[in-house]
Amino acid sequence: MRKKTLALLLLFLSLVSVFQRTQLSAQTAAPAHVNIPTPEEVLGFTPGDDRKLASWSQVVEYFTRLDQTSDRVKFEELGKSTMGKPFVMAIITSPENFERLEDYKKIQEQLADPRKLGAPTSRDRKAAELIGRGKTIVLITCGIHSTEVGSYLSSMLIAHRLASSNEPEIQNILTNTIILLVPSLNPDGVDIVKDWYDKTLGTPYEGTDPPELYHKYTGHDNNRDWYAFTQVETQLTVDKIHNVWHPQIVNDIHQQGAFGSRLFLPPYMAPVEPNVPKQIVEGYTELGNYIAREMRAKGFKGITTNSTYDAWSPSRAYSHYHGGVRILSETASAKLATPITLKFEDLNSREGYDPKKESANFGPLWCGGEWHLHDITNYMMTAAFLLLKHASENREQWLRRFYEIGKEAVRPTRNGELRGFLVPITSRSGIIPPSTNQYRLISVLQRGGIEVDRLASPLTHRGERFEPLSAVINLNQPYAAFAKALLEAQHYPNLRDSAGHPIPPYDVTAHSLSMLMGVKAIAFFKPLSYQKMKVGPTIWGSFGDKEFNVGLFKSSVPTMDEGWSRWLLEDQQVRYRIVRDSEIRSGKLGPDLRSIVIPDQPARTILNGYATGTMPPELIGGVGPEGVKKLREFVETGGTLICLNRASDFAIEQFKLPLRDVVAGLPRTDFYVPGSILRLELDTNHPIARAMPKESIAWAEDSPVFEVITSGNQFSVPSSNVHVIGWYSRVKDPLLSGWLLGGNRIKGKAALAEVTMGKGRIILFGFRPQYRAQSLATYPLFFNSLGAR
Ligand SMILES: [Zn+2]
Repeated sequence: MRKKTLALLLLFLSLVSVFQRTQLSAQTAAPAHVNIPTPEEVLGFTPGDDRKLASWSQVVEYFTRLDQTSDRVKFEELGKSTMGKPFVMAIITSPENFERLEDYKKIQEQLADPRKLGAPTSRDRKAAELIGRGKTIVLITCGIHSTEVGSYLSSMLIAHRLASSNEPEIQNILTNTIILLVPSLNPDGVDIVKDWYDKTLGTPYEGTDPPELYHKYTGHDNNRDWYAFTQVETQLTVDKIHNVWHPQIVNDIHQQGAFGSRLFLPPYMAPVEPNVPKQIVEGYTELGNYIAREMRAKGFKGITTNSTYDAWSPSRAYSHYHGGVRILSETASAKLATPITLKFEDLNSREGYDPKKESANFGPLWCGGEWHLHDITNYMMTAAFLLLKHASENREQWLRRFYEIGKEAVRPTRNGELRGFLVPITSRSGIIPPSTNQYRLISVLQRGGIEVDRLASPLTHRGERFEPLSAVINLNQPYAAFAKALLEAQHYPNLRDSAGHPIPPYDVTAHSLSMLMGVKAIAFFKPLSYQKMKVGPTIWGSFGDKEFNVGLFKSSVPTMDEGWSRWLLEDQQVRYRIVRDSEIRSGKLGPDLRSIVIPDQPARTILNGYATGTMPPELIGGVGPEGVKKLREFVETGGTLICLNRASDFAIEQFKLPLRDVVAGLPRTDFYVPGSILRLELDTNHPIARAMPKESIAWAEDSPVFEVITSGNQFSVPSSNVHVIGWYSRVKDPLLSGWLLGGNRIKGKAALAEVTMGKGRIILFGFRPQYRAQSLATYPLFFNSLGAR
């Protein structure tokens, strides 16, 4: 009975609303938006309220309601996230633009690839016409890092204002731009963080980060996948948004630590990766400075530009290689949704500015005080609407710049210029087996919009024979910069501050995917003449079901390397189970396990875990001395313990192995390798290096470098128990791509060693053999060690 009344009431209300809409649209040009729900009506609170987070289903419900009530919003599901949640996008623009959405897509396609405009002589004329009609495409991405809760909450405020406001400024934005709004690039993380936050609300642990990765496999590294495309969220964003819409502007909304500036905006600090087109640098400089200037004029404080964040890598900036500027905004954090109070003296310097001093790229001073979630959403909202204002007021300029990038990319190559890359492939069967690294590299390039030709017959170039199927990547194509960045070595500049200390990069310094995958890419400078073979797109295959009986160590303190390891084992269908620190402390290890992998993590964290008082009691503690004893027994009775990168230091210290980390504790001026590809030499007679080339790579980042100690009796095994399997060359420069200071210190030193102990062994990797699921070149070392016994 009640239900019936409600249904009738709803029917009546919806009839009224249809009636009102028809009436009003007959009277005025702008439709009425009296029925647009506010976020509060759906969530029960306003995004930005203290101590309130929305669940993912609430966010989806809110956008569904907008779609139902507003003719400015279309909401769609693009696919499913890693954990099966809807991965969604809202398109927001004027009702008139919605009627010609396909036309606008087409305009984008043609401006992005001017070859589609016909003969070169008529392209500028045709482009001018399209620029006159086109719209600025703005992609707003929120929430890739789920503990940065302000942005997915702001997405609802942004959408509501765009859907409901009739201010002239909003009308201009709707008329001149098409906004693609992704409320979260990581829907799974929204609930992981909210569940933890709600569980700890009102306890001493309120506002702490959850004790698990907020993306099932990659955690914070989900924002380092934009050139390897290993995760479904990256794939959906690239396939269904970037490659379809080619946005001119991407506003990627993030949060930074609490103690620096209130807001970072581009321009980025040096260095800019040399393949980023100059128009992109111009574009983000102009737009970032505009937003900063306008916000300062409105009274916002603590804004910095040209600091902390560089533009070195495609791993975070797909758009920089695809015609669009990335406007990273980084607002200072609170403690999730819990406010904090900061004293001015607590603020501290980050790269390029001091928040306690006004300077050319920082100011005006923010003097401390309370910092609430609504401060965060306020900074984010203001920046986003200024960005949209610029995008709409400078529509033609954005489109022209976009066309210029495409035009420059497809112009004929000049004499002496780099023309492209050859990737040799040998295959007896006439197809590339899907398990090969060449196949994987080509599929990545193709997903990134690169046209890859395949030879129909053999080709000889500078004395080298390339078999049919070998790949040719010509560089006069729209997204050539992306291919070039991935196929060449990086030479990171030797940047120093005024005291002569190296200036650390924001992330890592190398992204040579061909090297990481162990695939040759040979540059060519003269035109090649060849026939193309027709081949379909490529999908990578897997390693097959291997019964290694692997245990993967999972510390209570989440570490991304554990997530990546888990992803790799699952992707390659290797049977494994998680071994937690509590199990290592208490249980008996085995007999179901043959090997245990300890992923990269500081030795101290592996041993001690969270410190007492920082997290709920059940999460406190690492493997501890008891766990070390259990691990020793596991090895002595025949198990294999595999330690990745910093975990090797844990093993050396705890098991008193006769090795020394020769770079431990060195100042950066003496030795520094902030994420680079080094040259590794291998003993290929050893089972762990079987099927490997004599020279390979090592991904070095916070990495130990080993020296065997041959004297002293403080060790648990003699030095004769150590077998060095991989080392840095005694003669050649260890650096292949990226940045390395003090390379001479590691020449001839060990990077991969096996230590036998009792009936088992410990394998020490001084690098990350499965780095971010990108270093395919060294996967065999990892998988061979799983089977070692
Ligand atoms: Zn972030």
